[in-house]
Amino acid sequence: MTVTKKNRILPYPVDFEEFIEMFAQESDCESYLEKIRWSEGFQCPGCGGREAWKTERSLWHCSQCSRQTSVKSGTVFEASRKPLRLWFHVAWLMMSHKTGLSAQTLCDTFGFGSYQTAWGWLHKYRSVMIRQGREHLEGRVEVNEAYIGGVKKGRAGRGAEGKTMVLVAVEGGNNAPQRVRFRCVPSAQKACLIGFVKDYVSPGSTIVTDGLLAYKGLKTAGFEHERYVTSGNSEALKNVGQAHLIVSLLKRWMAGTHQGGIRPTHLQSYLDEFAFRFNRRLSTHRGKLFYRLIQQSVTSRPPGIKDFYKKEHKI
Ligand SMILES: [Zn+2]
Repeated sequence: MTVTKKNRILPYPVDFEEFIEMFAQESDCESYLEKIRWSEGFQCPGCGGREAWKTERSLWHCSQCSRQTSVKSGTVFEASRKPLRLWFHVAWLMMSHKTGLSAQTLCDTFGFGSYQTAWGWLHKYRSVMIRQGREHLEGRVEVNEAYIGGVKKGRAGRGAEGKTMVLVAVEGGNNAPQRVRFRCVPSAQKACLIGFVKDYVSPGSTIVTDGLLAYKGLKTAGFEHERYVTSGNSEALKNVGQAHLIVSLLKRWMAGTHQGGIRPTHLQSYLDEFAFRFNRRLSTHRGKLFYRLIQQSVTSRPPGIKDFYKKEHKI
């Protein structure tokens, strides 16, 4: 917890002035990570021991097994030679902009050596935006398919060439969307659609879909199912209107902030970022998003972290 200049007790800065006060030194960033990562006190990743002391090189030396651990090990920040203060600044910038930050803007702002380096930093953060074991969506949930991206001009709707199929689930009714989930899938086959719903929605919820036959089977899988044949029927379309709205917001964000040009192999991580932002759009302070991002950076292990640094981005 941090007592801010206005005597609020919050675990995050509420504006940039507080941000630069809180993280003036490298040791401030380290302490912040330690408090988040070991909120109940240090625990050795080797033996689970809780007794340790800090060495001059800021490593925690376990009294039980003598293993030395950095607060950065196994996190987004592992293996980076750049200071945490810089990483924190990038996280702040990324989260304080409502529409996010493109690699080009980051490159221009910080003078990174290359676009790829800047992109690598943002991608590291994107890779931990989805928290493992997230709660399932509940109640009324619209589920729909969309075709996103692609360099070729594909016709709209199912089967557009060069585009990636994305499934979207939106919780809530009465034009009041709550939380969203996305997944890139290879096709609209039954296994993909039903698997998506089972992974992200609580059994017993009401799934609202268009008339695609592959959705049949939701009842067998333990869900209530409202199915509307939408082709040429504007009244029926309203039933999946929230899913359509979310997809159009997503497309606008991708075209605006990221100028399109997102490779299909990276699309899921952009979907993860959009969901992270959308699901926290009502947060009182942007600082809370910064806090969540840093929290997930030290509590979720990013995929293939060592290979990522060695092969692609020497940062
Ligand atoms: Zn130990």
